[in-house]
Amino acid sequence: MLMNVLVLNSGSSTLKFQLIATDLEQIQNNQDKRLCRGMVERIGGEVIVTVTVGDQPRRVFSEPIANLPGAVEFIVRWLSSDESGIAEVRHAGDIHAAGHRVVHGGEKFSESVVINDEVLRDIENCIDLAPLHNPNNVKCIRAVERILGSKLPQVAVFDTAFHHRIPEHAHLYALPYHLYRRHHIRRYGFHGTSHRFVSYRYRVLAKKTREDTNIITLHLGNGCSAAAIQKGYPVDTSMGMTPLEGLVMGTRSGDVDAAVVNLIATKEGLSTAEVESLLNTQSGLLGISGLTNDMRVLQQELKEHEDRRVRLAIEIFAYRAKKYIGAYLAAMGGADAVVFTGGIGENSADIRGRICEGLQWFGLKVDPAKNAESVGKEERITTADSKVHAFVIPTDEELLISRDTVRCILGEPHPS
Ligand code: ADP
Repeated sequence: MLMNVLVLNSGSSTLKFQLIATDLEQIQNNQDKRLCRGMVERIGGEVIVTVTVGDQPRRVFSEPIANLPGAVEFIVRWLSSDESGIAEVRHAGDIHAAGHRVVHGGEKFSESVVINDEVLRDIENCIDLAPLHNPNNVKCIRAVERILGSKLPQVAVFDTAFHHRIPEHAHLYALPYHLYRRHHIRRYGFHGTSHRFVSYRYRVLAKKTREDTNIITLHLGNGCSAAAIQKGYPVDTSMGMTPLEGLVMGTRSGDVDAAVVNLIATKEGLSTAEVESLLNTQSGLLGISGLTNDMRVLQQELKEHEDRRVRLAIEIFAYRAKKYIGAYLAAMGGADAVVFTGGIGENSADIRGRICEGLQWFGLKVDPAKNAESVGKEERITTADSKVHAFVIPTDEELLISRDTVRCILGEPHPS
């Protein structure tokens, strides 16, 4: 029987949601049905709700919603109302399960799980590791329980889970070891659901087995991360203890010398928490360009006129990504493909081209025409004689969350 799964992905002031109808057969045939997708933004302020039902035009409206539980309540009410017009959902009881994107699963969670009291406690125990994210996930889980009842099965899908097998030599920092023991300070990695989804799609496209999947995945969106995938699982990834480490992102610096924290704090009269916030919210593309975190706007600017800082922001972004490809090639002893995903990776031929420029030495030859025409769709963008291929594969974290939800509830293993 098809299950209507409500997928919730909560940020501090936004709540993204999708309603996906699926079951084991639909998953097998890649025919899951997306009934609705939407987003509640600026929760607590001038709330904006955006929803798209099936293929219908997007609807945008404003609603007084005070907090995250209020947003969940609104979504459930709206989905089951006549106004939404979703034939499959006539009343709240037609929502059969909820799947939550949970940011931090710590060292505990290596895969998605059905939520019970113990799981919820363990997610709460990870709050120290993700103080900005996990509390919102917990609020959403509790809100669903209150609104749809404790019998409704709920599943947690962790951003960190796919990276769980990364070996010690790649996940430990060269810090005094007791800090790892006492505070669990290590690399966890994030965007795991996205890296996992595109690895699975790569296997389908390239007709490979999991065992035979040796690739580098680049998730380039507002947040950016790279993963080295060997025999189907990550052996390294660029985000660390938090999502701050690694690639240059929209507003995050990625890698910096840790000594700059104290220097900035001293010179600018900031607390270390304020410096951390500066590295997370005022750096990256925004910080270098002084203009915006939006790659599309930066590229448009550069097309219209020369602006040194805009050019530098784009160059530093592409250079860092290329450097990680090189590092992971060395770590893995070579790879069969590089996979681009995320808003920038899926849509920007220019950035993909810049990152792949000069990688011919190890056999990756981009076909400029294929690269240019590949926007937001699954495609190989390298020449047929390329030894190492590059693919564009749009990510779909919500789809994977809905599939894991069904599989966990039915007690099926997770093949993708
Ligand atoms: P999030 O990480 O918030 O989910 P996305 O994956 O949607 O973000 O990626 C957002 C980024 O993708 C923005 O920097 C945006 O400018 C960029 N982007 C989207 N479309 C294009 C495009 N056609 N060209 C360049 N960048 C694009």
